[in-house]
Amino acid sequence: MGLGLWGPAWAVALSTAMTLAVFVMGQPQAFSGIFGWGYAGALAASPWVLAGERRRVGRIIRRYQQEQGARLARVSDASRALLSVQALNESQECRITQMADLYHVTKETSRALRMAELFRIFLVLAPRLLHVRGWRLIDLTPTPPTAFRAAAAADGSFQMASAGPLLPQEEGLVAQTASTSQVVRVAPPLCAIALAREQRPVAVLVAEDLPESEEAVLAIVANQLSLQCSRIILYEQVEAMAVTDALTGLFVRGHFMSRAREEIARCTRHGLVSVLLMVDLDWFKQKNDTYGHLVGDVVLQQVAKRLQQRLRDIDLLARFGGEEFILLLIETELAEAVPIADRIRQLVEEAPIRAYDETLQQTVSIGLAAYPTHASTLEELIDHADQALYAAKRSGRNRVVVWDQTAGTATQDA
Ligand code: GH3
Ligand code: MG
Ligand code: MG
Repeated sequence: MGLGLWGPAWAVALSTAMTLAVFVMGQPQAFSGIFGWGYAGALAASPWVLAGERRRVGRIIRRYQQEQGARLARVSDASRALLSVQALNESQECRITQMADLYHVTKETSRALRMAELFRIFLVLAPRLLHVRGWRLIDLTPTPPTAFRAAAAADGSFQMASAGPLLPQEEGLVAQTASTSQVVRVAPPLCAIALAREQRPVAVLVAEDLPESEEAVLAIVANQLSLQCSRIILYEQVEAMAVTDALTGLFVRGHFMSRAREEIARCTRHGLVSVLLMVDLDWFKQKNDTYGHLVGDVVLQQVAKRLQQRLRDIDLLARFGGEEFILLLIETELAEAVPIADRIRQLVEEAPIRAYDETLQQTVSIGLAAYPTHASTLEELIDHADQALYAAKRSGRNRVVVWDQTAGTATQDA
């Protein structure tokens, strides 16, 4: 530090002294008087003044540099913090988007009432969350299980391509996922995960070419789908237990079958006769196509009401299928049943049905078969009444036909 400071100061002093000497030798009169000596003194002192100034400026520069350094360190700390906050923000945003997409999957799939429907809804939402080349859903609830398979379209969306019995490879997937709740990479490029209900697999979700980084997301999605599978299975169980049809208020097919079975058994025990009627709306598809399903629904409800009008409390009436009704006239002879059936036919035909702004003409065709005359079991009785119904359709509709063993079927009334 001494050399650094004094070295230049002595050099300046020497050069000043030499200048002064030259000046004194050239202009001696300049040293006369107090100003001359003051001037010379100031010149002689200037190196120390300069050195002092230099030290002061040096200190200021060092302090400034230290301050700048500290400021720079603070700025770089702050920018590092900012970057990490930005990164955190980005990952949080990514997580929020993913959670919103997962919520969407849960919300949308909760509308599904069947496995195929669940898979279709899932296929629409899946590309947002997972990047795979193909999906399959293996439904283990029916016997035998069914596989729904989707294919990717050019725009990255998925369409259900086929549904059917399991391929050998799919049977392998089911076996390998049965004992684990983890994603299983079995036969690359396929990976699979079981969808479980009460710890038992009810379906298997299969993805093709799933990136490893997305396995955790697939596991979360599978968890959500498992809940939806449970709900669907529960719905199907409740549906199987349901007694009445929501649209018409009539018994559903399942309930009719169990009640009719009891009645047929009673007929057998006590040597009684009963008659089964199959009633089908004529040209009903045209009504739906022309006026819409809501109008069609009102027509169905009104026909159901007219059927109920002709029945006794003991008779059984149910909605057998879409626009098909079934009646069991208990302890009724065929000779009594035919006019009842024809009266039902007339009741539908006579009065037009008012549905919203439409007034519609509707007719029905009816097939009859008697127990035990025409059949020895309930199933056979239904089959024969059905054959009679189709004979009624073939012979022009809006008529009643009784099943006839020898002639196949014979028209009784038109
Ligand atoms: P056919 O005289 O030979 O019986 O002709 P159809 O048009 O009545 O028979 P088809 O079997 O071709 O059509 C039955 C239609 O019943 C088709 C279906 O849309 C309709 N359907 C079934 N269930 C319902 C329902 O709950 N509501 C409504 N609106 N329509 C239904
Ligand atoms: Mg019909
Ligand atoms: Mg029909």
